[in-house]
Amino acid sequence: MKDIFGWELDKLVEDVKELGMPAFRAKQIFQWIYQKNIFAFDGMRNLSKTDIEKLKANFSILPQDLIVLKVLQSQDRITRKFLLQLKDGAAVETVLMHHDYGYSICVSSQVGCDMHCAFCASGLNGCQRSLTKAEILAQVYLCNSILSAENQRISRIVVMGSGEPMLNFDNVFAALEFLHDEKTANMSYRNMTVSTCGVIVGIERMENLGHPINLAISLHAVRDELRTKLMPINKANPFVKVIVAAEKYAKKTGRDVTYEYIMLRGCNDSTEDAQLLANFLKFKHASVNLIPANSVLEHGLQKSDEKTIDRFLQVLNRNHINATVRKEMGGDIAAACGQLRNQFAKERT
Ligand code: SF4
Repeated sequence: MKDIFGWELDKLVEDVKELGMPAFRAKQIFQWIYQKNIFAFDGMRNLSKTDIEKLKANFSILPQDLIVLKVLQSQDRITRKFLLQLKDGAAVETVLMHHDYGYSICVSSQVGCDMHCAFCASGLNGCQRSLTKAEILAQVYLCNSILSAENQRISRIVVMGSGEPMLNFDNVFAALEFLHDEKTANMSYRNMTVSTCGVIVGIERMENLGHPINLAISLHAVRDELRTKLMPINKANPFVKVIVAAEKYAKKTGRDVTYEYIMLRGCNDSTEDAQLLANFLKFKHASVNLIPANSVLEHGLQKSDEKTIDRFLQVLNRNHINATVRKEMGGDIAAACGQLRNQFAKERT
């Protein structure tokens, strides 16, 4: 049984022809799956019964085989978090968010993560494996099929869930290119964001691709020793060099880079830190997103209080750095990446 989900149209045409069907069948199937979110051949109403039986006997479509282990909805109903079980039993998290402009999705790129950032639950048990292109796409299409009942669809995608996207570069960018195709979701690259903890070679590859995809850097500290403590990647990829690579990317694509900065009480939230950050980003094509931390109890780190965050923001603004504080979304449903998956693993054991 072949899983056809995420195949390019040309490949589907070839395999459909091998089953003795005309090439236009592949186009019809393609439309049902990627434009109408129908993942069961029985629901593809313009196919003949004989062809449906043949297709069912030979092909499967991944979103149908995903198991939704948990769905959590925040009290304000803005955020929905899904824990999905993949075919091999691994579980990943996907977050769907409602904004004024529509819906955005935050997808995972790996099962767990090897980067071991101190504030993140995804890195607690390391990376089990990278997700396939189809598994990344399936997170989007599953949510699209849920939204289609409300006549809505996802308009923005952020690769910021579990995993380091640059360590699964080929599959992540193949999935984004697939979603950009007008025969599938027809999503603009400008509505896509890839977030990295600072894998320089990945940023350079992204620059070579030349798509105007938004780049976000998880920065979180601008003192070398502290950043290495919070984010061990800083040893091999020092943040100063990451900023240089990101600035090159911004100049090539014309897209400002977003620097994510999680606010951790008494750790990285002093006025001096704010001034240092401003010094590094001055005159760069950059904006800063200050994130009030969700508490990940395993590490004992806590979020900064509102006053401190406001003071930090003012320092950045005084230095003409475009900065905002991210709205806290889904704190009551463990929205920070990895938290739900870890909770579930604990419950299971
Ligand atoms: S913050 Fe991102 S890169 Fe760091 S451990 Fe979590 S998922 Fe991995």
